[in-house]
Amino acid sequence: MKPAPITEAPADAAARKAVKPVVCYPVESLPRPDLSAYRALRDDLELVETVTVPPREAAAWQVPAGHFCRLVCSEGPQVGDLNLFNLHDLSERFYSGKTRALSGTHVGLGDQLFSSFPYMRPIATITHDTLDWYGFDEFGGSVHDVIGTRCDPYTHNLLSHGGQYHHCCHSNLTRALANHTGMPREAAAAHVHDVLNVFMCTGFTRDTGQYFMKASPVRPGDYLEFFAEIDLLACMSACPGGDCSSEHSSDAAVCHPMLVEVYRAPRRPEGWTPPPVNGYDGSHGM
Ligand SMILES: [Zn+2]
Repeated sequence: MKPAPITEAPADAAARKAVKPVVCYPVESLPRPDLSAYRALRDDLELVETVTVPPREAAAWQVPAGHFCRLVCSEGPQVGDLNLFNLHDLSERFYSGKTRALSGTHVGLGDQLFSSFPYMRPIATITHDTLDWYGFDEFGGSVHDVIGTRCDPYTHNLLSHGGQYHHCCHSNLTRALANHTGMPREAAAAHVHDVLNVFMCTGFTRDTGQYFMKASPVRPGDYLEFFAEIDLLACMSACPGGDCSSEHSSDAAVCHPMLVEVYRAPRRPEGWTPPPVNGYDGSHGM
């Protein structure tokens, strides 16, 4: 519980609180992808790789630029924690916070996933989402959030007063990345970053602003699909929280594997060009 306010409200408190918000980053000024050009290719995709993500584990795979990737709910409601990297330079990676600032708390059809500074460019474009019907529910919840971080053993250790649990998404992603790249454990752990919470249903409580989760509405057959704007290394953990209806950071929840499908497209989307790295000159006024 947060402490009650100790400052008396000023006389004009109601007027100050009644000021209407403005959107920080109007998407009208953001270059938007031509979604129809991407979707025009979807009838002729060729499945070239499938990867199974075991429950309470993670898997890593590559998605070449111009390929599509589907993250599939194959057996039962299950949340996936996704990391994305530039295959050729792991220092360029998915930037959850800036993607959130640009596209909102939850992402879906037509949204682009941005990379870290100084590259900051779209590295993936969401081209299909079978949960797009969900929108926002009465609690303010929605799916595929970029507000959570990833469940991790450090937070678990704090909240459980010393607990040691090794199958949080952070650890699963660390193991998968280390196994895939051959890099040492500590180096791999340092590359793991805040995730896209695939299928997870989350929001903030209206009264206390706390991060909440609820049972994912995902069902077998549902998928989230993205187009790789650059050569990607992807890594996804099947969260130990399962559908995240009750708890994570333990072996208590029912968990399911997830399926990854990589598809080759017959050609590039019409008018598509590879996204250049960010145009800021990097001098920072110095
Ligand atoms: Zn997790």
